[in-house]
Amino acid sequence: MTTNDIPLPFILKVAIPAVPFFKLFEYLAPEDCPSENLQAGIRLEVPFGKRSKIAFLIAISTESEYPIEKLKPITRIIDDAPLLGCCDLKLLHWVANYYHHPIGEVMSTAFPVALRQGKDTIIKKLPKISDNKTKTSPLICNDAQQQAIDAISATLGEFNVFVLDGVTGSGKTEVYMQLIQTVLNRGQQILVLVPEITLTPQLQQRFEQRFSTHIAISHSKITDLQRKNAWLLMQSGVCSLLLGTRSALFTPLPNIGLIILDEEHDSSFKQQEGFRFSARDVAVMRGKLASVPVVLGSATPSLESLYNVKLQRYQHLQLPERAGNALPPLVQILDIRQQKLQEGLSAKLVEEIAVTLAKNEQVLLFLNRRGFAPTLICDGCGWVARCVHCDANLVIHRHKNLLRCHHCGTEHQLVSICPACQSNDLTSLGLGTERLESVLTHLFPDKVVLRLDRDSTQKKGALDDFLAQIHAGDAHIILGTQLLAKGHHFPSVTLVAILDVDSGLFSTDFHSGEKLAQLIVQVSGRAGREQKQGKVLLQTRQPDHSLLVELLRDGYTKFAVLALAEREMAGLPPFSYQALLRAHAENEDMPIMFLQTVVELAQSLNVQNVQILGAIPAPMARRAGQYRFQLLFQHTNRTALHTLLKQLVPQISTLKLAAKVRWSIDVDPVDLY
Ligand code: ADP
Ligand code: ZN
Ligand code: ZN
Repeated sequence: MTTNDIPLPFILKVAIPAVPFFKLFEYLAPEDCPSENLQAGIRLEVPFGKRSKIAFLIAISTESEYPIEKLKPITRIIDDAPLLGCCDLKLLHWVANYYHHPIGEVMSTAFPVALRQGKDTIIKKLPKISDNKTKTSPLICNDAQQQAIDAISATLGEFNVFVLDGVTGSGKTEVYMQLIQTVLNRGQQILVLVPEITLTPQLQQRFEQRFSTHIAISHSKITDLQRKNAWLLMQSGVCSLLLGTRSALFTPLPNIGLIILDEEHDSSFKQQEGFRFSARDVAVMRGKLASVPVVLGSATPSLESLYNVKLQRYQHLQLPERAGNALPPLVQILDIRQQKLQEGLSAKLVEEIAVTLAKNEQVLLFLNRRGFAPTLICDGCGWVARCVHCDANLVIHRHKNLLRCHHCGTEHQLVSICPACQSNDLTSLGLGTERLESVLTHLFPDKVVLRLDRDSTQKKGALDDFLAQIHAGDAHIILGTQLLAKGHHFPSVTLVAILDVDSGLFSTDFHSGEKLAQLIVQVSGRAGREQKQGKVLLQTRQPDHSLLVELLRDGYTKFAVLALAEREMAGLPPFSYQALLRAHAENEDMPIMFLQTVVELAQSLNVQNVQILGAIPAPMARRAGQYRFQLLFQHTNRTALHTLLKQLVPQISTLKLAAKVRWSIDVDPVDLY
């Protein structure tokens, strides 16, 4: 027998979920296993240490980095057919590379828990299709809508990114729905992503009223079983329409035809812990790999997307006017300098609220701070209620009679006597939504005040109940946090006010101007969405601030041009690329020593012109008992930055000090905290 006759062993390269290892693990195929049973994308059971684990077959090779005799055979093959297609595998590879994240952890994000545990792939339940008794017909589009639909439809089957830049209420959803119908008619699948779970019910309802097809829903608040079911419905091709949040992004769609991301500017599309991917950017890559168009919709597109428009990488489609007969809201600055405020409300605002309520119209007040007040201070000795674990004050929660840390969750009973000097002169400083609620109830005793924030909507179904109450006209004044800013449709709201614009004007994060402008436009967009014109009041002590003046005078599009010019001058993203290495530990010295070692390591790798800033304390240097430090890598060239990270990150994981801290790498960070 010649050596040529000895069959070469199959080496199976696998990813093991939740194992933080940058390379693939290698195993041997079972002897005499036919190669057609070993397709990339199937699940396997493999021995791992003393236990066994479920693994995903990523590639098959006849070569190994290790001596063959060291490799162990797998225990069993789980699936007859691959769960992932070739595009899905390519995408997961790409994200693991781009975010410098262990492939096994990427797999954990892509798969529902039950499948990661090796459970069966039987579809348990089909979503119901609502009766054809009740379907809405497509609306007759205006010219701008029609142009957008035509431009996108013309490129089905090709990769293209469209920024659907439409003012609030301009009928973007109608554009999505007509495109979805076209793609359904072609027998293809559609992925629709929204930034917030709270936005899925209203879109689901509009879709159900329009389409005669199963709609799969996927987000982090459904059960593991529901998520698995939605995943399999799409993966098997039984369902054609998937609506979800960023966790739905990796669901396999063998027959994908279109990707839509609504509210693309929203930073919730960026995962802020663990595997820190941007669902927007990955969706674009997914569209590219699958050769399908990607629609990024927003009334306030991100500066990144507008920059891509400028570079002609993305196509700009504008819907400059509200659809139907709705008028744009009147936005006014309310100068509150030298005014006595009643719990954050100026006399003029109280008067406007009264006038609106007298017309039986609804009022919406925006304040981005939960709780009663952010600070409890002693007038006698100056003692302030601080969190012992964080660099932060404890927030007063009157309803629950608690002092609570919003960063680590620590709670104490609310005190009425100063623990330092025993005086009973304790004062609540500042304004939170609970306090605003109580003053409004006092000022308008015969009106229903509804507070919508994370505290009041914690109970399952609470938010839906609130939204139903608003729609039914049973609530008169709605106040809340950023939960309110997102794409909700409140037809009877005609007065909107932002109580504390100034807190957004003086942040150190370079994203803050963009975020404030988006917030103002988005919150304003909740006013007067149907027949009655809306009014928006911005309370500020900075009435001449250029951001406010320019935004109100010229609108968001021009604001964005100026903001981009500022970023360019400062060499900030999107004119440069960043990655943030965070480290924290209980011991203050460890993260500093660790990051300093990383700096030395990075310098030794000799990648030119990468700026390394730090190690510096995180903006909140102590949180939940952990000392937090960070290192920022920045380069004008994305490839150069990634060349460095590609070498650096796997080496960091082998550093002795890496075991003494918790660390993570955040590519394209949106929040420098
Ligand atoms: P957006 O998603 O841009 O905020 P929507 O799609 O929710 O806007 O549309 C806002 C309102 O305008 C909805 O009530 C919708 O039914 C209506 N609308 C949309 N397009 C048209 C149209 N072409 N003619 C009349 N009304 C429309
Ligand atoms: Zn005191
Ligand atoms: Zn704390």
